[in-house]
Amino acid sequence: MRRRKVLLTVPHAGCFVVPSERHCDRNAENMAKAIEDEFQRRGIEVVIVKNHKMRTERNDANRVSGFQDTEFGRTVQKEIKSGAYDYLVDCHSYPFAINMPRDFYVLDFGPSQNINQSIVKFGGTMGLECAIFEASPANAILSFAIQSGLSCTLLEVSEFLELGALRRVASAVVHAFASPTRPGRFHVEFF
Ligand SMILES: [Zn+2]
Repeated sequence: MRRRKVLLTVPHAGCFVVPSERHCDRNAENMAKAIEDEFQRRGIEVVIVKNHKMRTERNDANRVSGFQDTEFGRTVQKEIKSGAYDYLVDCHSYPFAINMPRDFYVLDFGPSQNINQSIVKFGGTMGLECAIFEASPANAILSFAIQSGLSCTLLEVSEFLELGALRRVASAVVHAFASPTRPGRFHVEFF
């Protein structure tokens, strides 16, 4: 059997400090690293593609404008087209907002619903406050992944989550990946 392989993208890793402005996802790289560790511990190969260019109104790596003809976008497209991957997690983070879950949420496009529902269920059993929302079709990375038949998740974690909690989120992702067809069960299986 072919080895399983996972692609992680961090489109908003580019950060420069202007206190009044927010250009980047300040916890997204930490989240990607925790997910990488958790998959690698189980012998699954992981590739991370980060975008260190600053996000602007006109150039957002998560939108067609910043994805179609940029170094980051070309790299992600090439990796997906290689056909080597079983799963993609697009990693982001968000600042505190009163109407958002405390710990994390996933954005779902219909085709990956089972795995995304599983992440939230496993997250809940691990004591994390989380939610699932419908994704915007404008997301260029996930649209490309879905057109290529790749299961995918857009993961948003709180910028207040520390390493222990990030590891629990990563564990929820890995458990969901291990049992993507059984979103309704709380039973946990390792592979
Ligand atoms: Zn982001």
